[in-house]
Amino acid sequence: MSVSVSGNKPIALLWFRDDLRLADHPALTAALAKGYAILPVYIDESPSPQLRPLGAASRVWLHHALTALDHEFKQRGSSLLIQRGEAQSVLKALIKATGAQALYWSRRYGEQERLIDSQIKNFARDSGLDTESFNAHLLVEPWQVTTKTGQPMKVFTPFWKAARALGEPLPPLPTPKTIPAPDLPSKAFKPLSIEALNLLPTKPDWATSMMPHWTISESGAWTRLTNFLEHGLQGYAEDRNRPDLENVSRLSPYLRFGMISPRQIWHAAVAACASDRSQASDKDLSSFQSELGWREFSYHLLYYNPDLANQNYQSRFNDFPWMDHPDHLTAWQSGLTGYPIVDAGMRELWQTGFMHNRVRMITASFLIKHLMIDWRQGENWFWDTLFDADCASNPASWQWVAGSGADAAPYFRIFNPILQGERFDPKGAYVRHYVPEIAALPNDLIHKPWTASPSTLAHCKIKLGHDYPLPLIDHGEGRDRALEAFKSLKPSA
Ligand SMILES: Cc1cc2nc3c(=O)[nH]c(=O)nc-3n(C[C@H](O)[C@H](O)[C@H](O)COP(=O)(O)OP(=O)(O)OC[C@H]3O[C@@H](n4cnc5c(N)ncnc54)[C@H](O)[C@@H]3O)c2cc1C
Repeated sequence: MSVSVSGNKPIALLWFRDDLRLADHPALTAALAKGYAILPVYIDESPSPQLRPLGAASRVWLHHALTALDHEFKQRGSSLLIQRGEAQSVLKALIKATGAQALYWSRRYGEQERLIDSQIKNFARDSGLDTESFNAHLLVEPWQVTTKTGQPMKVFTPFWKAARALGEPLPPLPTPKTIPAPDLPSKAFKPLSIEALNLLPTKPDWATSMMPHWTISESGAWTRLTNFLEHGLQGYAEDRNRPDLENVSRLSPYLRFGMISPRQIWHAAVAACASDRSQASDKDLSSFQSELGWREFSYHLLYYNPDLANQNYQSRFNDFPWMDHPDHLTAWQSGLTGYPIVDAGMRELWQTGFMHNRVRMITASFLIKHLMIDWRQGENWFWDTLFDADCASNPASWQWVAGSGADAAPYFRIFNPILQGERFDPKGAYVRHYVPEIAALPNDLIHKPWTASPSTLAHCKIKLGHDYPLPLIDHGEGRDRALEAFKSLKPSA
């Protein structure tokens, strides 16, 4: 790795946001190709009132991701400049202080973010700066896919078919060999430390115990991808639904913060499947690719429906009679609903900052349908607690489960938490791990402890209602109540 400092080269500000990596970074590659010295900057935009504040878990992830990126720059004789404030004022001040002649970044897709970025682009171009933005986050940008009549897509299958028809994603760009740093006087600007952003919780420190589950760096993302391609992709098409197995990649937080790109994942998966050693089938590969496609679809939806986290995509849900039941919400959040698969999922979230996709669907369905609590409350909770909390995938998925979203599950699809548990965690290994208080129950009772006989419960030393709660609501009753309420909705216009 070579260290290079250049006093003569013109300077480009490289504004890092949700693209905290060096490899496959089109803005970085383009700035280097034009001969700029690179001043990498991250701006904590939390003072901007129009942006949704990051959730607590995302802040933790961000702290470590920034630290890892700074480390990469330091190894190259540079460092990541941390600033805080409204992006436009910060960048204006930096341009003045450094004499930067260029400003490059990777595009983002939320409405307010786009508004901020376009104002900055205008001011920078008016000031004569070489200003460019790039796609580093998606396989296809939202506007690249439309219906035949030029409208936004509403259904996943045609969306994905049209996206695939655009051709294979471009091959990923390599990590630059050298990144020349500008030679600036030390007082040109006032850097903040990453610690000064106060992203980590202290009282209490709930985050440290989660860290053994993750290596939060660009190389950590690659290790995870490689492991997944070697051990998880084979059987993915079926076993991705099994929270008790290791058949999913758990790459979502890395994707969320751009520590790995979807193009890198795509091409690595294709190459792995083509290798002689691979046992993964074409079905495994296309199933994995289509899950990446759901992420793309979510961004498409967000782009054309900017208020996706607040507004029902289908307005007929606006009159839905949601229930206000804070005790039920707290029980759900704490993993104390009395349904083991639901509680295991909510505790996986507490303990690791992640939840398996199948269990996300089960827990979300339980909150929305059995408890009839507004999907927005669940979306907010996930926003705060998931490491991968994503401005597009989170609201799109919650609306999908609620039935209010695009191409959503029909309202009468109400997951039965007992059958879902028995089908996807057949031996109860996932439940036993996260709900140890009922681990002694035999497999046929682990997903429905309230049906165990008093003698079995006594034998297993479990006092239901004391060691583990009785169900918050009877499944059949909850189901019927939800169906009644959903039936009262007006048909779609
Ligand atoms: C209620 C609910 C909330 C969700 N909130 C989020 C969120 O905030 N952030 C987030 O990234 N995903 C969210 N998802 C989608 C999905 O659960 C996660 O992307 C997936 O569990 C991540 O695990 P993985 O990386 O092991 O996925 P893999 O199965 O390995 O898939 C690879 C990648 O494809 C993407 N992907 C997979 N499934 C989906 C999906 N259904 N929708 C969109 N993208 C998908 C992810 O980027 C994922 O990393 C949510 C799903 C539900 C039901």
